[in-house]
Amino acid sequence: MNILEVKPSGYCRGVALALSKVRNAIKDYPDQPIYIIGMIVHNRYIVDAFRMHNVITLDDSRLSKAELVDQIESGVVIFTAHGIADEVKQKALDKGLTVIDATCDYVLKTHEIIKEHLKQGYTVFYIGKNRHPESEAALSISDDIILITGCEDIAHIDCDNSRILVTTQTTMSIFETRDIITAITEKFPQAEIAEEICDATKRRQQAVADLKDIDTLIVVGDPKSNNTNQLARMGLKSGIKKVLRIETAKDLENLTFDETERIAVASGASTPKVLTDNVISYLQDGNTDYLKVDLSSIIRFL
Ligand code: SF4
Repeated sequence: MNILEVKPSGYCRGVALALSKVRNAIKDYPDQPIYIIGMIVHNRYIVDAFRMHNVITLDDSRLSKAELVDQIESGVVIFTAHGIADEVKQKALDKGLTVIDATCDYVLKTHEIIKEHLKQGYTVFYIGKNRHPESEAALSISDDIILITGCEDIAHIDCDNSRILVTTQTTMSIFETRDIITAITEKFPQAEIAEEICDATKRRQQAVADLKDIDTLIVVGDPKSNNTNQLARMGLKSGIKKVLRIETAKDLENLTFDETERIAVASGASTPKVLTDNVISYLQDGNTDYLKVDLSSIIRFL
């Protein structure tokens, strides 16, 4: 079979920075408990690797982020790359916790754009995924922000403000977002656009969209990772017949591939490179050692 690694692969800048903040916290606060509110980035192997270093991830979809902070008595609290509501961060500070904010710069920039436009009297439409932590953080800025998850939402929006700003979650599909923006501007011609899909997301999606003569696309990443899922959707949209979204090489164990098959392997921005490398190596020589995940190798790759 013919195997192609889709580039870029490995961590994006925002993920690398968030992970380095956790690693620094482990070094800087050896005697204090360290908590992360939600998954630091969407990959459960990274969460498990940090757990080996006694970093506790508090992640319970039944509880709000503020309620998760309530559970912490003392120590260090880290907020994730997806962003956090200002009041939750303030709550942690008020409790006397040491706060480390790992919000990605791209996410922070979107928050600034939203705040600035709300101050100027705009109505803000936010294109994002319902209940995703990045959307939740952005929507926490004001109850007046209108979440748009797809074109079908637009018919239900009533807005007579002459000033509308449309902005986006950073990890949305570039093509689907374009369609949503077109539909919004047809109904609200006064809308101004601040499309904020980040470069890392765009470059990965474009690389999948540009694939030629591929029979199978394998996307390595966590099911919760929006940018990973968007890569798989992009593959299907581009007409690739077989698209597999997997977490590790282990998910390939019971699958067979033709000798002539042309396989592309892509990965999300929060997928440890070692997991993608293992998938490629397993496809190449079938060595079952590549099916195991060595958590210490993930920490080494930070
Ligand atoms: S995918 Fe984009 S927004 Fe998310 S952490 Fe990476 S660079 Fe930041």
